[in-house]
Amino acid sequence: MTSTETLEPGILAGDEFAQEPDGAVIAVPAGGGAFQGRYLHHAPGPSATARIILDLFAVRYRSREGLRRAAAELINAHPGGWRYLGAATSKDREIRPRRAPAPVGSCFCHQDDGSPSPAYVEAALAAHARAEAAQLLGNASAASVLPPGGSAGPGHAALITRSSVPEGIDLIYLLYRDGLLIEVRDGAYPNYGRFTPAIVDVPWGREIDPGAIEDAVAAVRSRTPADLARAKVAETLAETAERLRAIPAHHDLVLHLLAGNSRHLSIPREHGPETALARAAGLHTAELPGHLHRLERGEQIRLLNQAAHLLNPAEHPAA
Ligand SMILES: [Zn+2]
Repeated sequence: MTSTETLEPGILAGDEFAQEPDGAVIAVPAGGGAFQGRYLHHAPGPSATARIILDLFAVRYRSREGLRRAAAELINAHPGGWRYLGAATSKDREIRPRRAPAPVGSCFCHQDDGSPSPAYVEAALAAHARAEAAQLLGNASAASVLPPGGSAGPGHAALITRSSVPEGIDLIYLLYRDGLLIEVRDGAYPNYGRFTPAIVDVPWGREIDPGAIEDAVAAVRSRTPADLARAKVAETLAETAERLRAIPAHHDLVLHLLAGNSRHLSIPREHGPETALARAAGLHTAELPGHLHRLERGEQIRLLNQAAHLLNPAEHPAA
């Protein structure tokens, strides 16, 4: 196809940024919760953007190598980021994904004919000059060469990472081997730049549920610090219930604690703490649980100290 068959989608016709849709980030995971992403300018809401990305995978990245090819094309080959993904043709004026070699969308770094855009070349040459200068100064780190990540956006080439998501971007579309994960800027901490997964699973090749996607994103966005506090308190209560379940009833507590404290002693049972406790009480060990059950907490403590005194009077004088 020729470049004349590729049209701007209607929503961008005329004034490119007339409707000023929210920008977003498309990204691939980079291990340990990290990601590498690019700016996507025209991201028309969570479910519509999810639809565009899922269609891209259905049309261009079907194979088992799909994610690798998506990363190569969407992230690595276009450092300037994307105006929009998908394309319209003169035959079909609706914006939709096209098979390679049709354009995957419109980026900020290339022109329609595939040549680098003048603005991008200019930025690249400036970066090259900075790299040479930094090398002369013996300081050729990426940080000294590339513009800061926070400047990602139209016309800026920048790899976006979890710590450099530009201000104002609320959605990250993470591409995994099996599907899409949408992360949303958390409403409880909007100024912390915290992103929370809104949808665990939008598998490739499956029908999406736009309502469910919008609801999940809205739920993360509308969360308040009070909501988070409530969730934390509820979690504390449930955890305490879980731990309480593992603690024995009151009358078994002394033996439970003894067993815990003596589990590293390599001493035969007849010389162990339970036997010593029974001896101090003048009982057989089999009678000990019932005896402890009848004692008050203060009497239990006295019995323990008495048993210690019988074993080692020097260290544990009688009370
Ligand atoms: Zn490009």
